[in-house]
Amino acid sequence: MITPVKIVVPVKLMPEADQAAALSATVRTVNDLACWVSEVAFANDVPREYELRKHTYAHLKEQGLGAQAAQHVIKKVRDAYTTLHANIRAGNLGKSGSKRRLRAESKPIMFRPESAQPYDDRCLSWQMDAQTVSIWTTAGRIKNVRFACSTHALKTLREYRKGESDLIERDGAFYLIATCEIPEAEQYEPDHFIGVDLGIVNIATTSTGYQAAGRQLNRYRKRQLALRAKLQKKRTKSAKRRLKERSRREQRHVKNTNHIIAKTIVTEAERTFAGLCLEELKGIRQRVRLRKPQRVALHSWAFAQLGEFIVYKARRAGVPVVYVDPAYSSRECAHCGHVDRLNRTSQATFVCRSCGVVAHADRNASHVLARRGENVWTAGRESRVPATP
Ligand SMILES: [Zn+2]
Repeated sequence: MITPVKIVVPVKLMPEADQAAALSATVRTVNDLACWVSEVAFANDVPREYELRKHTYAHLKEQGLGAQAAQHVIKKVRDAYTTLHANIRAGNLGKSGSKRRLRAESKPIMFRPESAQPYDDRCLSWQMDAQTVSIWTTAGRIKNVRFACSTHALKTLREYRKGESDLIERDGAFYLIATCEIPEAEQYEPDHFIGVDLGIVNIATTSTGYQAAGRQLNRYRKRQLALRAKLQKKRTKSAKRRLKERSRREQRHVKNTNHIIAKTIVTEAERTFAGLCLEELKGIRQRVRLRKPQRVALHSWAFAQLGEFIVYKARRAGVPVVYVDPAYSSRECAHCGHVDRLNRTSQATFVCRSCGVVAHADRNASHVLARRGENVWTAGRESRVPATP
């Protein structure tokens, strides 16, 4: 079965001054009205979308929203409550009666003035050749709004853009976040499996010898943290802005690095008709118990992202991916299978108490994972591959 992989492609709008004013007014108006719809929803025990529309649609039209924009505002509000309720149910806001949960439950959801506004094809159209969009605003439809993106992104948009896009404003600039549905390749029957061990010191180690050292990323992050601490002491507005910029830059940097690592791993698997075997993601945080200075080295989201990128690229390339329980993978000998806490003599080295094999600890773990992956595959158990967002 071939199901498409959904990805988002952000493009930056390059509006003329009057276009920018129209976009800015639009984003503020729709979010202002979203706050109002949210209050109505809250006052009416958050009814279903259909019911909520009855209470709010006419007023939104009166305020100058088109039919689509009005419906998108209502849906956005309803979706926000659905997400909130799901979070409450999942216990993400603490137990019933906790401070955080009470705060979330006791008042309507609010929307920031620059929050994302969804657009469908009726209120937004793309001219890929001219690299412009025509977009609905509260000042009417504006045409020939130029947008900037990479050649690669443009190609993706041209071939696969489908469904809604979000308009957002950030630091005075406007972006469209377009959804693309990319068909996934048919999976091949793997010839063997490559184990991928994820860690802090070495971000990724594969059983075929590839290793992405974390040293550079960790050093980069440390430097960013030091600068951030400095900025945090000044509580000025400009320091705040620079802090935000810095954390965005850092995220971009990690993202780039993760893309490169994921690409290297998936390309190798594809080239050798191998499958990939990863640890179940929830294992990483549990497994990695670190002293404090290392704990700040890399956030768990960075790992989750690397895992996501690998899965996403693998799906696009038709590379089979299996997940295995990482339990004891760092204590098990890839050579003889002996499991012993003492096998792992240090962060870096592995010395088997039974057969005497000496190996690099992460490399040993990656071999253990490769074998477990092979077992999972041959046992025919369909492994759970999480859907890429
Ligand atoms: Zn051994």
